[in-house]
Amino acid sequence: MTAVPVTIATRGDSPRVDTVRVNMRAHLESHAAAMVAAVARYDAASRQEQRKIVAEIRARHAAMRPLVGLAPNATNLALPGETNQKLAKNAAFTLGYTGSPSTSSRVVVDWIGSPMRIVFDSCSWSGQCSRYCVLKGGRGKFSSVRAGRSWRDLVAYRDPVGWIIARRHELVTAADRHGAVLERGDVGTEYGIADLVPGLYADTPTGSTVRGYDYGKRPHILTGNGWQANGHHRTVYSWNENSDPRAVNRFLARGGNVVVVTDAAKGDPIPSSWKIGSKSWPTVDGDATDDRLADPGGHVVILYAKGGAANPIRPLTGFVMPVARGGRS
Ligand code: SF4
Repeated sequence: MTAVPVTIATRGDSPRVDTVRVNMRAHLESHAAAMVAAVARYDAASRQEQRKIVAEIRARHAAMRPLVGLAPNATNLALPGETNQKLAKNAAFTLGYTGSPSTSSRVVVDWIGSPMRIVFDSCSWSGQCSRYCVLKGGRGKFSSVRAGRSWRDLVAYRDPVGWIIARRHELVTAADRHGAVLERGDVGTEYGIADLVPGLYADTPTGSTVRGYDYGKRPHILTGNGWQANGHHRTVYSWNENSDPRAVNRFLARGGNVVVVTDAAKGDPIPSSWKIGSKSWPTVDGDATDDRLADPGGHVVILYAKGGAANPIRPLTGFVMPVARGGRS
């Protein structure tokens, strides 16, 4: 059992079960060096050794599935993009890695002789968005979908090294089969794994192309231009109620891109520019496709609000932005 860097022990809603809250980004940070080394070892291994390593890891991960009510099958962690309405719009073959948003995942385990409930804090920079997160609606209402996400959270927490090798293996296998693969990581989470393990998105040992992207709110994204993993991965900064317009404008000026959730209705033409502070930036339609690597730098990606965030009687100041305030046609 590995150490948990950030935990808050409280009494749970059952008097017999303690609750441990895990900040997943901090947890993965504490295992980053081991994960980096593991990906390098995987890449250097023969195909036969890779398959043997991954079979053992998958057996471990399958054994965790009954903890969330799933059959103990050995399955992939990332899912093909066609299972996600948004990712299905990407022209490139795309995988999506989805965890449980915010603190919606609670798993009871008994690893130390007494039951413990783990609450996974998956996107610790979330704010107002967590109240109406789109991941909690749609397919997220199905218990089997929620269980699958909780299983991935549990695997990342309990076995971060096995988790990263399994993810690398899925990318390598898909890239070698299709010639190239694009992954949308961090659907429902903000682990920022490309910061921690850039090798996850390196091209395969046989030279097939691996690329990745995600969206994030962690402020340190703004210190660069959003590109990580030697230019193989891009994080698009998500505008939110805590954003500093000056830092966001500097990020855009360096070629970073920023996504803004707006009160535009589905199908409305997007504004041609978007104003942040005193500066206006050109826009791209973020709903036309989810492939954020294809966008030119220094652009604002416009989305329309979905799910509960689109409800006009519950406006979210600072997260859902009125087109009338930022947009110019
Ligand atoms: S919108 Fe993103 S950051 Fe906010 S709760 Fe959902 S997954 Fe987390």
